[in-house]
Amino acid sequence: MTLRLVNPATEQPLAELETAGVEETDRAVAAAKEAFPAWRAVAPTDRARLLRRLAALVEEHAEELALLETRNVGKPIADSRGEVGMVAEVFHFYAGAVDKHYGQTIPVAGGVDVTFREPLGVVGLIVPWNFPLNIASWKVGPALACGNTVVLKPAELTPMTALRLGELALEAGIPEGVFTVLVGPGRVVGERLIHHPDVAKIGFTGSTEVGAGVMRGAAETIKRVTLELGGKSANVVFADADLERAAAAAPYAVFGNAGQDCCARSRILVQREAYDRFVDLLVKATAGVRVGDPEDAKTEMGPLVSAHHRETVASFVDAEPFYRGAVPEGPGFWYPCTLVEATNDDRVAREEVFGPVAAIIPFTDEADAVRIANDTPYGLSGSIWTTNGARALRVARALDTGVLSINSNSSVRVSTPFGGFKQSGFGRELGMHGLDGYSEVKNVFMSTEG
Ligand code: NAD
Repeated sequence: MTLRLVNPATEQPLAELETAGVEETDRAVAAAKEAFPAWRAVAPTDRARLLRRLAALVEEHAEELALLETRNVGKPIADSRGEVGMVAEVFHFYAGAVDKHYGQTIPVAGGVDVTFREPLGVVGLIVPWNFPLNIASWKVGPALACGNTVVLKPAELTPMTALRLGELALEAGIPEGVFTVLVGPGRVVGERLIHHPDVAKIGFTGSTEVGAGVMRGAAETIKRVTLELGGKSANVVFADADLERAAAAAPYAVFGNAGQDCCARSRILVQREAYDRFVDLLVKATAGVRVGDPEDAKTEMGPLVSAHHRETVASFVDAEPFYRGAVPEGPGFWYPCTLVEATNDDRVAREEVFGPVAAIIPFTDEADAVRIANDTPYGLSGSIWTTNGARALRVARALDTGVLSINSNSSVRVSTPFGGFKQSGFGRELGMHGLDGYSEVKNVFMSTEG
């Protein structure tokens, strides 16, 4: 099958690629299985050196990778540059983590008890199209650091940077078979990885619906799974917050990456006393979001990833919205920044839009804010804006979500754990926590008697 990719900002052809099928997937898994014993046996400092070289190659090719990502996804070049910078940092971090991922000695009677962190074997990694290289690196980094071999399946729409990463890994000296990138449909390559008896784990980021299928399929062979799924995060603004700061930041927390962000704070909860003033400030800030050519360094929001996805996003806005921004004329899968006033029961507040549409919802007091914020099947991210430190911590503890920010909207850092509660998935990526998902704890008791 041939995959025809277009640039979402221009609708011009970008690339044509042959896709892999079941046979190619089986070959990649067989190669990964064969490469595993030697890769796990590489001395820690050497494995670290190889990952460090890969990080350096990503840095050397940063501009090329950023441009490729921008043309494939339609995301602003400034964002792509930041994401590629993070990819290099991720490989640096996990290069440094290789020899710091310790086992333990545990006091027991009659001997010595030690734990080892063993690799799992061949791991299948399945990633989405919204942060293609970035999310791939969050999995590839810890997987390789722990001594696993990897078959990575990027999303059909956005395989370009993953393919380039595969080439850079070989250039870095990571042996053939240790890291293979397979471009192909989820229903073929993805499914085969999930059901393959020689794949020990699936690291998956994508929709909750497909994630449920990953879990069902993995059950057949008791595969390990890490699931990073959808979100419907709340941005909770209390009346005592610095409203100017909160309003200036809010548009970027939901319209960044054109809203195609699992952490998007797409429910903006505002305390009634401050509602009118905040909404006024929010509209002004939203009007300031620079929408346009993704290759212009000043652009803050580009188009959506595909025409099909634009139709899905548009289906969430049935009446005239409270505010609708402007978009460029002509080709491209553009959708404007959109603000709607809603209740938490409306479809726009319950389902993940995955586009630049934010629902503004009023609340009365702290208990009401917590109730509304938690009234969702998801639990990935969120923000709390208040100048009352005790309240900030109280609310942070009360929210059922994996990643929170106080007086900030930033969720993701290389060194800190990232992942969801409830139907946003389970398992943690990034930081030292990320290594737990790619290793098995082995306990060994050695008798000192006799
Ligand atoms: P998706 O679930 O449609 O696809 C994700 C990946 O799964 C793709 O590579 C796809 O080819 C593959 N896939 C599809 N069907 C499959 C099947 N039956 N078996 C195996 N693999 C299959 O998601 P998407 O549309 O690419 O991405 C958007 C979703 O990802 C959103 O819901 C978003 O919230 C979520 N997401 C979550 C995080 C997170 O960290 N929690 C990060 C980014 C995106």
